[in-house]
Amino acid sequence: MNNKKKILIIILILVIISGFITLKNLFKLYVNKIKPYYDLQYKYIGLKNKNLKIKKSINKENQKSKDNEKMLSEIKEKREKLEKIINKYEIKENSKIVYLTFDDGPSIYTDDILNILDKYNIKATFFVTCSSNLEEFSKKLMKKGHTIGLHSCTHNYSYIYSSKEVYFDDLNKLSSIIEKSSGYKSKYVRFPGGSSNTVSKFNKGIMSELSKELTNKGYKYFDWNIDSNDAKGANKEQIYSNVIGSLENNDRNISMILMHDTKVYTKDALEKIIIDALNMGYTFLNISDNTKEVHHYINN
Ligand SMILES: [Zn+2]
Repeated sequence: MNNKKKILIIILILVIISGFITLKNLFKLYVNKIKPYYDLQYKYIGLKNKNLKIKKSINKENQKSKDNEKMLSEIKEKREKLEKIINKYEIKENSKIVYLTFDDGPSIYTDDILNILDKYNIKATFFVTCSSNLEEFSKKLMKKGHTIGLHSCTHNYSYIYSSKEVYFDDLNKLSSIIEKSSGYKSKYVRFPGGSSNTVSKFNKGIMSELSKELTNKGYKYFDWNIDSNDAKGANKEQIYSNVIGSLENNDRNISMILMHDTKVYTKDALEKIIIDALNMGYTFLNISDNTKEVHHYINN
């Protein structure tokens, strides 16, 4: 082997060794620098995506909280509106209230009375009897939003107060005519003569018995605390001054006025009574479940 060959072999060996060393260094570089770099890169991208997701969910939550805030303010607004309505109602409750009640009809004057009530947008209560136009007026009263109360079918004192059974037969007869014609079943009753009447004295204790029985059966009965005296022969001026005089000297919150739509002078006095009572700040209501019962002292 000549020297040239030897040198070549040595060079070749050196090249192979340096090749190994380079490869080793490259591997080291990969393991120590490149791989960790890419690992970090992947981690970075992963974290970035996570971050984006979190940001998205934060945005969502923000939107939700904005929606919630909007809902809250809407609820607040609604509540304020309701409070205003309640306040208004309470003012109404505290203001003085008049219940116009008309007994013994319907009659030939009932239509005129309804027209006057319509003119002032006032609702009243009619304690009716079995008159010939009861069916027609039951429908009409319901349509106009007035309250139908039960007075008596026959309005015959010696008949209806002769016994509990007879009283309720009479009342049921009246009630079923109203219900058949108007679909309305009235729970409001006014005794002929009022609960304090003494015309029933021929049957001892009947009023105590009837008033208890009405309450047991779920009825409410209403007497009055202002009498227009129209059934006792008062004329137009007297009816007016009986009612307005009582309303002027009145510290009651509820005024239950007894009138009769069978009387011509009542119809004639009504408009002036309404105008003056409105000017005095009274509110007119018809009897409803919210109406406090006005009761007389029972004498029999
Ligand atoms: Zn009557």
